[in-house]
Amino acid sequence: MTQPDPRTLVCLERLIGFDTVSRNSNLACIDWARAHMQAYGARTRMDWNDDRTKANLLATFGEGPGGLVLSGHVDVVPVDGQHWASDPFMASIRDGRVYGRGACDMKGFDAVVLGHVPDYAAARLRQPIHVALTYDEELGCLGIPHLIAAMAEWDVRPAFCIVGEPTSMRVVSAHKGGRVYRCQVRGRAAHSSLTHTAVNAIEYAARLVARIQEIGERECRHGARADGFDVPFTTISTNLFGGGNGANIVPAEAGFLFDYRTIPGFDPERIIGELTTLAAELSATMRRIDPDCGIDFTLVNAIPALAPCEDAPMFRAALALLADQTVEKVGYGTEAGFFQQGGVPALVCGPGSIAQAHKADEYVALDQLAACDRFIAGLVRQLSH
Ligand SMILES: [Zn+2]
Repeated sequence: MTQPDPRTLVCLERLIGFDTVSRNSNLACIDWARAHMQAYGARTRMDWNDDRTKANLLATFGEGPGGLVLSGHVDVVPVDGQHWASDPFMASIRDGRVYGRGACDMKGFDAVVLGHVPDYAAARLRQPIHVALTYDEELGCLGIPHLIAAMAEWDVRPAFCIVGEPTSMRVVSAHKGGRVYRCQVRGRAAHSSLTHTAVNAIEYAARLVARIQEIGERECRHGARADGFDVPFTTISTNLFGGGNGANIVPAEAGFLFDYRTIPGFDPERIIGELTTLAAELSATMRRIDPDCGIDFTLVNAIPALAPCEDAPMFRAALALLADQTVEKVGYGTEAGFFQQGGVPALVCGPGSIAQAHKADEYVALDQLAACDRFIAGLVRQLSH
């Protein structure tokens, strides 16, 4: 077994020690990472959330336009209700693995990136290396859009991005996009013997749910295909439904959540557009009985798809550094889709397996960290004179 760089292990122990569960502030962790990088001459920029309890951090080594951004989130999922063999917020090295919350998702990658900071400082870089650390990824990539906007404002436009989510050190070149919407239907209640005076919110909601199912079946049968995905088409489903308050009351309220996963190139507006059109027709009928009736959609969460950018020179350079050069496409979303949407082509590659993420006794294997050490060292060489 290859051992990781000792600097990586030191950083990983520090990172796991910060309880950065998404509901907490990440500032202690960000402040430590910032001081660490400033000590090696990085220029750092903070991008705060609205109440200044959390921040994204961008650190830059070297000069000039373009360059590479190495990006990772520092927030982690909770440990509530999980049974851990050791303290989840204290790194424990045993059996060739580092155990701890976030070891795999994704403080392992963050630690490799931070561990190699002295090398970015010492290298004669042809192009800058940026390090991005983000908040609230685990809540649905809520922090990264702010950082992308801030980078545009700061005029920082890297040529390429590597997001180090756990992929067992294989390249993920593409992922699906995702959207979650809440639909709320306002009808009019009445005794169930007087249906002609009522607007049944559940029945109208059901019309929309039926359309969602039709769209799903249509995409499955005839929709556009994207090669390389396990499920190579766009999917949609209604996943939570509520409404009504009794067997003899026509319901005034019904609401549901639906979720769709789009292949790269599929316009996510198309689906919500179709449902909005249907909702407008239904609302017109509802309002004949009561003008206060209606249907509202709220966007709960949106993650852009990541399309492959295999022609980008840095994509090929990064892939060439890996022992396993299989290229995968996955169904889950990452911050890479946001970088690409912001004009920075991206791939996903990081140590550890997604199978170990979010669970009790989360770990990253030492040889995965060592493989990522070699990867980052190779990238530094590529970007140097
Ligand atoms: Zn993650």
